[in-house]
Amino acid sequence: MDKNKNQSKGNTISMSRETRTVQALGFEDESSGALVPPVHFSTTFARDAEDYQTPQGRSYLRCDGATQELAEAILADLESAEESMVFSSGIAACTAPFHGLKQGEHALISKTLYHGVLSFVKEFSESWGILIDYFETGNLEELEQKLIPGKTQLVWLETPANPTWAITDLETAAKLTHQAGALLAVDSTVATPVLTRPLELGADLVCHSATKYLNGHSDVLAGFLAVRDPSLELWRRVKMHRKFGGTVLGSMEAFLLIRGMKTLHLRVQRQSQNALELARYLEAQGSINWVFYPGLESNPGYPIAKKQMQGGFGGMLSFLVSGGKKEALEVLSRAQVFKRATSLGGVESLIEHRKSSETVETETPDNLIRMSVGIEAVEDLLEDLRRMLQV
Ligand SMILES: *Cc1c(COP(=O)(O)O)cnc(C)c1O
Repeated sequence: MDKNKNQSKGNTISMSRETRTVQALGFEDESSGALVPPVHFSTTFARDAEDYQTPQGRSYLRCDGATQELAEAILADLESAEESMVFSSGIAACTAPFHGLKQGEHALISKTLYHGVLSFVKEFSESWGILIDYFETGNLEELEQKLIPGKTQLVWLETPANPTWAITDLETAAKLTHQAGALLAVDSTVATPVLTRPLELGADLVCHSATKYLNGHSDVLAGFLAVRDPSLELWRRVKMHRKFGGTVLGSMEAFLLIRGMKTLHLRVQRQSQNALELARYLEAQGSINWVFYPGLESNPGYPIAKKQMQGGFGGMLSFLVSGGKKEALEVLSRAQVFKRATSLGGVESLIEHRKSSETVETETPDNLIRMSVGIEAVEDLLEDLRRMLQV
């Protein structure tokens, strides 16, 4: 599919990525003219009596689905990717490249990471014979030292990274990784393709929990991986894993994801604006020890974030309260606009005691509160923060 052109009949003018996403790549149903893509629920497809072929080459929904393929085309366009694959969840997408590694191969992982990926690696890598090593998030000298040329196959990192939103310079990380003959995979869930496109900065694979900003309405579980070079052996194995591991996305979920993505740019712009305002407010409060948000000039990641995030710094921020878990829970108990819940990227603002949600030993402090800032009126969010902090 020509990624840069409107797909509707006879229309070949070039459009911005935002317009293409809003219009689902210009989708028009050929037979009816419907602008909203249909949901194809059929798991199987009829074969011709003569040549035993199906009309569009699809045979079984676990292998190919029309609704899933439209979602994949939109996602590949968003990430400047050659190919993309949707999965049944973000974690299914994030762990697929590890399933693609072979016994004795080495992977390097950044320490500050979504806890689910860490849990998976800690539970399974040893018994599968995959060698895992860790580097301090954002510390590229340590990354360089720990890369083993010829042996390291995969470098995995997240930027901004859960839950401190530490920033890694993707261009430099990609250069170092490639010098050692390895591939760079980036979990870009928090940045979204609106703000950062890792493949354009040299990464080989990009991964998302589409459950979060891409769908944006807290009502779909989905994930995707996108690749710059689909001829990679790792990509072939990831494809095999999805097909025969069965981590496929359902048709209804694919449809809802396509619908959700239409407003992605608008939502992320508003969320980034709201989050920056809240971060500045929090930074000005004496009772807050530290605010983690890459859009604050005081944040150590700010210069790189400014370079590799365009149009905003995202909707995620964290802060430390004085005291420990008890004091943090007291703050949360006073929330009325923010909902006390885990997850992120939906239109509604969420707030949580992060450590309580994590499933593995991490460095997340007991007094850390994590917020996913939504698209509500910012005055209401500010008022709620004042209520929570009693200022
Ligand atoms: C939520 C999340 C995941 C896991 O995605 P699910 O859709 O919950 O399976 C992976 N990475 C990041 C950064 C996330 O926030």
